[in-house]
Amino acid sequence: RAAMPAQLRSIRVSPFSTSTSRPAGRINHDVRITRTGKPILTVSAGRSSLGGYTATVFGATGFLGRYIVNRLARSGCTVIVPFREEMAKRHLKVAGDLGRVVFMEMDLRNTASIEESVRHSDIVYNLIGRDYPTKNFDLADVHVEGTERIAEAVAKYDIDRYVHVSSHSALLDSPSEFYRTKAQGEQVARSIYPETTIVRPAPMFGFEDRLLHRLASPSNVITSNWMQERFNPVHAIDVGMALEAMLHDDTTAAETFELYGPTEYTMAELNDLVEREAMKKRRHINVPKAIMKPVARYANKLLWWPIHSEDEVEREFIDQYIDPQAKTFKDLDIEPVELSSLTYEYLKGYRSSSYYDLPPMSEREKREEKKYLHVID
Ligand code: NDP
Repeated sequence: RAAMPAQLRSIRVSPFSTSTSRPAGRINHDVRITRTGKPILTVSAGRSSLGGYTATVFGATGFLGRYIVNRLARSGCTVIVPFREEMAKRHLKVAGDLGRVVFMEMDLRNTASIEESVRHSDIVYNLIGRDYPTKNFDLADVHVEGTERIAEAVAKYDIDRYVHVSSHSALLDSPSEFYRTKAQGEQVARSIYPETTIVRPAPMFGFEDRLLHRLASPSNVITSNWMQERFNPVHAIDVGMALEAMLHDDTTAAETFELYGPTEYTMAELNDLVEREAMKKRRHINVPKAIMKPVARYANKLLWWPIHSEDEVEREFIDQYIDPQAKTFKDLDIEPVELSSLTYEYLKGYRSSSYYDLPPMSEREKREEKKYLHVID
């Protein structure tokens, strides 16, 4: 090696080589110790990083799931994704390097399949939730019974960490069954596994959300509370970031986090924002709760695709409740983004094709604050 020219020597030593002749300091590696004293080796090497941890993410096939699976898998953690529908999980495969994302068939009523999914993990995330009752699962089945089975498996296999995603406004005496069952789920999780980290996200927005897109897609927006409910929408990517931070920070065990955005909106204010970005004015119809609830109840029995449920009508009358005792993004050193800074990104697809933006504005137009120029065919 001494006779080898210096230039050639630097080519032959790969930064990913495990050879003992590797120059010191080329690879950024670290050994972390989990809460129960297990050593975890992490090595950062781009897509081939070794995250060291094994994480199970229940409910990974939903909206929020991809934002945590993606973060874990790309940092080299092995991610176990329990799933029930083949097609619903496909997009997660490419989140990490080959073999990083492992799929396991699971049924919420099959304890053995839940245990199989958690037994080798260092952390378990439970993102399972449903906004409306379905034919086979009512809200308590999903939020309480399902949580109980998962928490029991976590306790049985002595998993280091359990992060339970609940909901904002989860209160035992809430008039909404969704919030009530979410609060019961939190209680059940804490009673079985006291170090459960509870995460209560505010209504989330993002590419696949049911907030901005639900306002932007229909031509008639039907509500019952004149869009007066108040909440602090939060970006799904921020919530994903917070969930990842919890893995690396054991002081978050046994804590409760309320994750909400910096600004409070009423649904009507959000609707104005959506209409401005989508450049569309939709008809708003307000149907009183006394009529809307029975209509939603019977429509849900007759139709086989999900539509606005009775409980969702009830939730329109409940403002977001933020527990002042709970921790927030601040405790994780994360600054949540402002919704209005991203609405253009998420809603530009709703604009009519007869509009397009002309090349950069002239100074005069800027002074006149003419943001977009519209040219109609
Ligand atoms: P989604 O509805 O998009 O995803 C829910 C996930 O739960 C899916 O993976 C779904 O699996 C799974 N799931 C639902 N029911 C069952 C069941 N019976 N058995 C097995 N799996 C089931 O939820 P989000 O990603 O939007 O939200 C994640 C969590 O955050 C949920 O618990 C939700 O209640 C909570 N939350 C969400 C908010 C939001 O604005 N989105 C606001 C506050 C809380 P499958 O794909 O197979 O159906």
